[in-house]
Amino acid sequence: MDRKQIIPKELRYTRNQFDNEFPTDDACLEQIKEQRFPGGVTVCQKCEASRKHHRVTGRTAYACAKCGNHIFPLAGTIFEKSTTSLRVWFQAMYLMGSTRCGISAKQIQRETGVTYKTAWRIFHQIRKLMSEDLRLGGPGSGVEMDEMYHGGRRKNESGRRLRGDKGNKTMVLGVVERKGRIVARATNDLSMASTNALVKEYVLPESTIFTDDASAYRQVPRIAGGGYEHKRINHSQKVYVVGDVHTNTIEGFWSLVKRGIGGVYHSVSAKYLQSYLDEYSFRYNRRDSGNLIFPAMLRRVSELASSRPLQ
Ligand SMILES: [Zn+2]
Repeated sequence: MDRKQIIPKELRYTRNQFDNEFPTDDACLEQIKEQRFPGGVTVCQKCEASRKHHRVTGRTAYACAKCGNHIFPLAGTIFEKSTTSLRVWFQAMYLMGSTRCGISAKQIQRETGVTYKTAWRIFHQIRKLMSEDLRLGGPGSGVEMDEMYHGGRRKNESGRRLRGDKGNKTMVLGVVERKGRIVARATNDLSMASTNALVKEYVLPESTIFTDDASAYRQVPRIAGGGYEHKRINHSQKVYVVGDVHTNTIEGFWSLVKRGIGGVYHSVSAKYLQSYLDEYSFRYNRRDSGNLIFPAMLRRVSELASSRPLQ
């Protein structure tokens, strides 16, 4: 990518800004508290008095000025049980958000001084923030659907499984809106049942669905209640584009994932494949937000935090 990227000012978020905004663990905790209690904790959950809560020294807690009841803003978040500095978590999120191709645990280890094991665990937790539940397409809009073989085998084959594949989620099915968002799911097989299930769950009725001529997509127009229009391109005849019928958008995404997994992560086991797909999808879905991916990840922390009482 040698194209010079000019990011508009409102979409910029530099490392300097990050360092200024989050210089300490306390600043990071304050941010999470602010997200979960906008304007601060002002009413006590226990004595119900309308009192300000003050930071408890040495603990990740805020206490009611009247009865002393503690509130823990990290409860139910991915940071809850961690002994790692909150700022290291934030740094790891910032780094993960500012790359296009992915970033290795080795690099966060180098940048923050945590052990490789800790860095790896942090990244795995952060990927949980990047899992999204989307519905794509809709009446009058087109989505492309395609499959990818993890490990680079059998691209564009009919989906027949090889011996030894059983139970391994080594295939990926994806749906993408043109100029829009993507959903990519690891799957055990490329059967009509799998493709239909993906469509039903993630594609809004009355979308036009572009696929290649693999047999697994054949029933798409017959999905009950879907009203999908199905347009196929004959990859098996080496035809790749006819008018607006192609799957080039999703194939572009597959190359991004393959370059990333091959070049940065080297290899990814079937067990963790979905979490890496989530990571690539999350960034792809925000590719027009400049450097604002880190703030988006930060918002996910409180969105995903469990709703149990914070005491
Ligand atoms: Zn109180």
